[in-house]
Amino acid sequence: MELAYLNGWLGSLEEAHVSVNDRGYNFGDGVYEVLRAYDGVIFALEEHLKRLESSAAAVEIELPWKPAQLKNITEDTLSKSGIKEALIYIQVTRGTAPRSHSSEADMLPNLLVTVRNIIEIPPSLYSEGVKAITMPEFRWQMCNIKSISLQASVLAKRRADRAGAAEAFFVLPDGTVTEGASSNIFIVKDGVLLTHPADNRILSGVLRHFVLKVAESLEVKVRVEPFKISDLMKAEEVFITGTVAEVVPVVNVDGKIIGGGQPGPLTGLLHQGFTSLHE
Ligand code: PLP
Repeated sequence: MELAYLNGWLGSLEEAHVSVNDRGYNFGDGVYEVLRAYDGVIFALEEHLKRLESSAAAVEIELPWKPAQLKNITEDTLSKSGIKEALIYIQVTRGTAPRSHSSEADMLPNLLVTVRNIIEIPPSLYSEGVKAITMPEFRWQMCNIKSISLQASVLAKRRADRAGAAEAFFVLPDGTVTEGASSNIFIVKDGVLLTHPADNRILSGVLRHFVLKVAESLEVKVRVEPFKISDLMKAEEVFITGTVAEVVPVVNVDGKIIGGGQPGPLTGLLHQGFTSLHE
């Protein structure tokens, strides 16, 4: 059964309620993680909790829970749900207080963990690939933080939806492609795998990290450096990574066909390599 844990309370997602004074609700003042469990085992829980900690530290939210407590709460909620193929969401907001931009230092953060059934991903996503659009980067300059303030990403996704695309890629004024609205982007150029460095312009994705590890083990040439929109348009292969859909080929950007319109061989190999990490 899909379950929500909220500050010690456990019940259905429909019954879980937060105050209208929750700063997450009023200001998007919080951080989050999205994780996946395969056959009842959470993938890369430690990596996700580390990122949650560093996101919280970056926005000056002091976590009152030790990593081991967060691990226990998350694993316990998963196990009580009985769900094996799960989508797990962890959210920490700064706390609850009458709406005011300034916040008291001693506010107690709110912790929400939800466990839901993973959404079925159609196999055609991998066999056919998806379309993407590009748009000017208009997010803030702390994209390394997994903040729940996601309005810019929501707007980008709406624009992608209207164009019949699955993802929107952000492009800086100098033509550098940073990442997708909810994914990291990789391209293959002259046989070399390229992805943007993990700086303030992108979220350092957990899947990105594991795909880079798989690439290393396969002795693929990798350059973790910025690339331009002109490189993207001429790429042999393009793919995006994220916890939910893992590795997804992109075959069309802004209406232009990429890599002959077919998912590329390296994309498939890297996805296969990733899959073997949790089987
Ligand atoms: N970049 C952004 C902006 C995201 O929102 C996400 C995931 O939601 C990712 C990258 C991929 O991160 P991960 O691989 O940890 O799921």
